[in-house]
Amino acid sequence: MDLISANVAAVPESMTLAVTAQAAAMKKRGEEVYSFGAGEPDFDTPAHIVQAAMQALSEGKTRYTASAGILELRESIAAKLLIDNDLQYEPSQISVNCGAKHSCYNAILATVNPGDEVIIPAPYWTSYPEMVRLVGGVPVIVETKKENGWKMTPSEFEDAMSPLTKMIIINSPGNPTGAVYSKDELAAIGEIAAAEEIVILSDEIYEKLVYDGHQHVSIASISKEIADVTITVNGFSKAYAMTGWRLGYTAAPRDIAKAIDVLQSHTTSNVVTFAQYGALAALQGDQQIVADMRDEFDVRRQYMLSRLSGIRHVNVVEPKGAFYFLVDIEPMGIKSVNFCEKLLSKQKVAAVPGQAFGADYTIRFSYATGLDVINEGMNRFEEFCAQH
Ligand code: PMP
Ligand code: GLU
Repeated sequence: MDLISANVAAVPESMTLAVTAQAAAMKKRGEEVYSFGAGEPDFDTPAHIVQAAMQALSEGKTRYTASAGILELRESIAAKLLIDNDLQYEPSQISVNCGAKHSCYNAILATVNPGDEVIIPAPYWTSYPEMVRLVGGVPVIVETKKENGWKMTPSEFEDAMSPLTKMIIINSPGNPTGAVYSKDELAAIGEIAAAEEIVILSDEIYEKLVYDGHQHVSIASISKEIADVTITVNGFSKAYAMTGWRLGYTAAPRDIAKAIDVLQSHTTSNVVTFAQYGALAALQGDQQIVADMRDEFDVRRQYMLSRLSGIRHVNVVEPKGAFYFLVDIEPMGIKSVNFCEKLLSKQKVAAVPGQAFGADYTIRFSYATGLDVINEGMNRFEEFCAQH
């Protein structure tokens, strides 16, 4: 008898985390590694956020809270969604979860039945198809085109639809492509989904990281009909450099919010109580820190773009958001896993194979790392490409 369930046995480990762990292990052994693996801000969590969590801890805020999170935090999230995103949610429609990864999983588990199809534009964040498989759903991958800035068109969406389609996942700004959908593009997709009663999972975790004057638009803000089928996911990891705190949230129509609440009450219960007070401080404190970190990412983005554009045999689409470059390595004729293994062993440069994102002719560099690492890493990448 198999001890592991079929659903779990079918799922590989997360390659983004595996590459990062491998680079960290090499560093620990004393090897010099230029790591462009996980998308994790290299900044420390701002001091006032840390202070608020410490204070909560010292005040004895160490007990269970409401499963969906403390009311003050859900009120603050509702206020943030209204001001920043033009979204109207009551605190009861918000659930605070253990990272946006958990928010996505809760959203999928709460809505997708075994056998239901979930449309995922590729290149996609590595965990979406696996989450869908974990609940017995069927990922339907839509290959987007580089010429379209890696964005799914409404007709590609319609072509992928079937009577079994339950959900579509939109991730703008996107990981790993950096694609940012415009309001019109979102409206076109949203109107189709609303008409067909397809749930939209809108993962907006990179909302604050947009460049060159591009605007982030929340798809649920476009119309009531779209909001009625949308689960908005966001969190604290990327905007506030709080990856290890494990804080994300869903905002959803009432029935879905209730289902997520029930689900969470039987699985994780509330997010760490004193961490929730840190999140509250993040939302209520000075937002300049978010803009400052974004500006720093933009400096790195522009530098890295100038370096990558100068390297022969590879191509890039300028990312408009998030903190990744998806590099097209097709002209080099090596598939991504093999390519990344060689790049790491020969040049000590860690990148994530595009296979993890459903794009095996690409590799992903995260630029959430210092300029000195980017500079030397790019020197080494250039050398590698010249030798192959
Ligand atoms: N969505 C996307 C697109 C991501 O890249 C990540 C990466 N961490 C997450 C969700 C999850 O973020 P969190 O750390 O809040 O779980
Ligand atoms: N989301 C980040 C990434 O894509 C962090 C790792 C993960 O959670 O997958 O690298």
